[in-house]
Amino acid sequence: MAPLKVSGLRKSYGGREVVAGVDFELARGECYGLLGPNGAGKTTILRLCLGLTAPDAGTIRLVGEPVPARARQARMKVGVVPQFDNLDPDFTVAENLLVFGRYFGIADAQTRRRIPELLDFAGLSGKEQSRLATLSGGMKRRLTLARALVNDPDLLLLDEPTTGLDPQARHLIWERLKQLLANGKTILLTSHFMDEAERLCHRLAIVDAGRIVAEGAPRDLIAREIEPQVVEVYGEDAPGWAATEGARHARRLELSGETAFCYVGEDQVQALLAHLATRSGLRTLHRPANLEDVFLKLTGRELRD
Ligand code: ADP
Repeated sequence: MAPLKVSGLRKSYGGREVVAGVDFELARGECYGLLGPNGAGKTTILRLCLGLTAPDAGTIRLVGEPVPARARQARMKVGVVPQFDNLDPDFTVAENLLVFGRYFGIADAQTRRRIPELLDFAGLSGKEQSRLATLSGGMKRRLTLARALVNDPDLLLLDEPTTGLDPQARHLIWERLKQLLANGKTILLTSHFMDEAERLCHRLAIVDAGRIVAEGAPRDLIAREIEPQVVEVYGEDAPGWAATEGARHARRLELSGETAFCYVGEDQVQALLAHLATRSGLRTLHRPANLEDVFLKLTGRELRD
């Protein structure tokens, strides 16, 4: 049984379809990512999967239970890290875990026995009695992750688990998520960080305007969706060069500000670099294509709010 299976999911707000026919299925033990720009519908998809909002159409099966019909029962077996921490600021670290355990009908004594292990996992050992106000943003995020494990779920739903964290704190969360995967947990996460998705996700769906526009393993998406090599051309002369000669040298060319992104085949790289070397007003960076290139190709370079 798939930990989560979604078919034909649709949801409109105020006459606008924000989830416009979404299908995906998680395999046990995998990390599956929903990757998309702001407003793509990622959070709404998670909320639908948890039965926190009702779909207009489609079917959802979460840990074997039909949602929304048996959403409450399903949620008992799932761990959730919401986009914004909703820890209780008046409680201590330990009290936050105890209160959360009670939502799942777990006796305080039982949660108390697990607190050392949960705090050790979160890198918060010895912080049982600390007030929430004394914790950094990264610590609160780790506590939210520990809290999501109170009911020992096999499936975790994480909404932008590292947004707003500094690089050190992000790396620590990534390590913990990898540890959970190594222990056999299944993870569904949303993100708009390419490095996060590339690092953690076995498979991911690129979501835009409520639809899945591509799905696959990060490497397969790169191989399938985009030219293999990129030469970035910078400098004042780059827009002029892109408008006149650029297109002759690249399979595809995108201009963003003063940078021309030349997407080329393996066979074109050397000729392009040789040509650019003759142009003193241009600086270049040659690199293999990555997930961000795929993301920008499929979802565009315009700003989203
Ligand atoms: P993402 O998580 O990808 O940033 P969301 O799922 O949060 O996207 O939002 C998708 C779109 O749906 C956005 O345009 C947002 O404004 C809209 N939306 C989300 N929730 C509601 C709601 N409760 N009422 C009205 N519009 C909503």
